Amino acid sequence: MVLAENIRCSHCGAPVEFKPGEIIATCKYCGFTTVIQTGQAFTFEHSLLLNSYNIKQMEGFVKDWMHSGFMKPSDLAKKSKITDRTLIYLPFWVITCEASTNYKGIFERIAPPIVKEGEIKKKYNWLVLARQSSDFPTRSYDVPLAGKIPYDFRKIESFAKILNSEIEREQATKLAQQQIDSHHRFLLQEDVDRIVEATTTVIPKQMVYLHAPIWFIRYEYRGSSYQMLIDGAKGIILKGDIPNTKF
Ligand SMILES: [Zn+2]
Repeated sequence: MVLAENIRCSHCGAPVEFKPGEIIATCKYCGFTTVIQTGQAFTFEHSLLLNSYNIKQMEGFVKDWMHSGFMKPSDLAKKSKITDRTLIYLPFWVITCEASTNYKGIFERIAPPIVKEGEIKKKYNWLVLARQSSDFPTRSYDVPLAGKIPYDFRKIESFAKILNSEIEREQATKLAQQQIDSHHRFLLQEDVDRIVEATTTVIPKQMVYLHAPIWFIRYEYRGSSYQMLIDGAKGIILKGDIPNTKF
């Protein structure tokens, strides 16, 4: 059992709840964001993506998804029951950056093999989940940044949950660097069969702390429970567990 501790919001004086491991907390009464360790105000841009759907519409998305695609049991929509629909505003760091990887590798698909050198250069709005648990599919979430507004607690539904950040800014930058490096190494497989060396440089241009609305759906089908994650801004299904079907 993890107990929440609290500090006072330096803006409105209300208690700001946070759990062990969280390092940036947002006051639910005034939306002011505080760095827990120092008690100082958070000085970076804090943005919000709005949720555009209600529970009924979400259930509609779930049913549509259950009806579509040939990988699913044909009675999935009929025999399943939605047991939980929770709207959670998840914290992310969005790192706008230029990333380049200089590489040297061996191309073995011809004889004799040749050494290839080159550079991969790309621009990203790289998304890092600001939580330690990493079961969120960040790579398949095309965060709709065009819709972001300055964080405004009044625009958040009273039934929604808001999670605080467990990842500080420097750590997020480091994670982005590692993730981009492995992404580029993956892309390199098209060019070379064996990587001799690869060095990735990430130049951050901008960093935004962002809360984005994600619906956590659970449904039951033939005695088992399955999860779905749906982007509340665009209604896009980010993850959907499909029951194993025996053919
Ligand atoms: Zn406050």
